[in-house]
Amino acid sequence: MGKITGFLEIDRKVESYAPVEERIKNYREFTLPMEEKDVKDQGARCMDCGIPFCHSGCPLGNLIPDFNDAVYRGKWEKASEILHSTNNFPEFTGRLCPAPCEEACVLGINEDPVTIENIEKNIAETAFKKGWITAKPPLERTGKKVAVVGSGPAGLAAAQQLNRAGHQVTVFERDEKPGGLLRYGIPDFKMEKHVIDRRLELLKEEGIEFKCGVHVGKDIKADALKNDFDAIVLTGGATVRRKLPIEGADLKGVVQAMDFLGQNNRRVDGIKDLGEEILATDKDVVVIGGGDTGSDCIGTSFRQGAKSVSNFEIMPMGTPDRPKDQPWPFWPMRLRTSSSHKEGAERFFSISTKKFIGDEKGNLKGLITSEVEWVTVPGQRPQLKEVEGTEKEWKCELALLALGFTGSENTIAEQLGLEMDNRTNIKASELNYKTNVPGIFVAGDQRRGQSLIVWAISEGRQAAHHIDKYLMGESALPLKGEGDLPRV
Ligand SMILES: Cc1cc2nc3c(=O)[nH]c(=O)nc-3n(C[C@H](O)[C@H](O)[C@H](O)COP(=O)(O)OP(=O)(O)OC[C@H]3O[C@@H](n4cnc5c(N)ncnc54)[C@H](O)[C@@H]3O)c2cc1C
Ligand code: SF4
Repeated sequence: MGKITGFLEIDRKVESYAPVEERIKNYREFTLPMEEKDVKDQGARCMDCGIPFCHSGCPLGNLIPDFNDAVYRGKWEKASEILHSTNNFPEFTGRLCPAPCEEACVLGINEDPVTIENIEKNIAETAFKKGWITAKPPLERTGKKVAVVGSGPAGLAAAQQLNRAGHQVTVFERDEKPGGLLRYGIPDFKMEKHVIDRRLELLKEEGIEFKCGVHVGKDIKADALKNDFDAIVLTGGATVRRKLPIEGADLKGVVQAMDFLGQNNRRVDGIKDLGEEILATDKDVVVIGGGDTGSDCIGTSFRQGAKSVSNFEIMPMGTPDRPKDQPWPFWPMRLRTSSSHKEGAERFFSISTKKFIGDEKGNLKGLITSEVEWVTVPGQRPQLKEVEGTEKEWKCELALLALGFTGSENTIAEQLGLEMDNRTNIKASELNYKTNVPGIFVAGDQRRGQSLIVWAISEGRQAAHHIDKYLMGESALPLKGEGDLPRV
């Protein structure tokens, strides 16, 4: 429970960042580690609140007060056991999670919440440093074979859980290396890729086989895979990018964010053959879209040496405080400012891009916007309305489209006869992750649509339980929040 009076005595403190002018010179992570005493003090702020709402704020049901208490008492190995009992990859979430748990922290009602995410990262990194995280292959094999299609956080979590249950797991990934968006979406300055490789080595040691460069649906037909395996879990993500179908969208310099980010992550990985290079160097860059992807484009553009970076968001500017209609402990839609925003981007809200302008060679040289407002008519969905007389021309040689994703690709679904839902994800209930075809399961962004790493891990774990049950009639794999180890 932490120290009884800890929350009264100790202020919230999180890792600080290297100065902007230093960190944008490279792609390394730039958080500055905290002293062990400071992290223990932060654990001491957890206040034994009776009903820990943080548990339900966390999609994994992490046992947060328990690991906070262990950290406060310096029992780091115990903290790591508790954390790993509900979360396969706390080194990912400890760096990248937006921490809905902190929005649900009881201390957060009238004080700064406990720094749960940062404590999580410190537990994971201490455990790796001390050598406590080791491969744990299953003692027995069941003789059942499971294929995992897609190696993002959902696929990796499902694979580890199913392997623990003794099934022979093969992960198919069409990219050259496993990791999904962790590797080819999220930039190294948010998470260096050796963090993924360190975990992959353990998964391989545990007996999971990875087949990269294999596009299921093209290189292997999905129905052939079905004949070779006892069950399949689809974890291919929500990869269909939203387009901006306006005049000039085909000009050279109008680029999908994922093409830009994927290429840069490969460049940072030392890959030379990148095809046509997309670079922000010496350009006025406009990033269209105010979410995580947009923010990653901003940080990457600055590191490539952009002349200026502007960020457009069609929604109005939120308030930094929790809006009154989104009370604690719910996740509030408020203004969030990322470390990349703070690197010098100018942000514009309630703005819509109407047209891209090109030069005589077909290169982007500018764009036209207008301000917009959302008009609410009772009984109808809010309508977007242009504000007359607000048209503006901007100089821009690189426009990055970070408009989100519309759902899952449908090749595998067509080959297997899978139903899609009305948001073009593969249809399956959260109750059992089963598609309409027996033996085929789906989890992560491919089932729930574009979401978060913590949700992907949670879905991978949940799906693994239901697959194990389908194969064996029952399952000892834990469901959300159960954990698979005794508590302190
Ligand atoms: C730029 C960006 C930044 C983000 N930042 C954050 C963040 O900071 N924090 C956070 O919580 N979330 C973030 N997200 C969201 C998060 O990355 C995703 O929600 C999460 O990765 C989804 O995991 P997944 O395993 O379902 O799918 P993915 O990570 O998308 O992985 C799917 C994998 O399946 C592979 N695949 C697809 N189809 C096939 C096929 N037919 N055959 C073989 N392989 C296939 C793909 O190549 C990919 O490797 C970000 C997303 C983006 C795009
Ligand atoms: S995974 Fe995310 S939501 Fe869960 S405890 Fe960690 S930071 Fe909080």
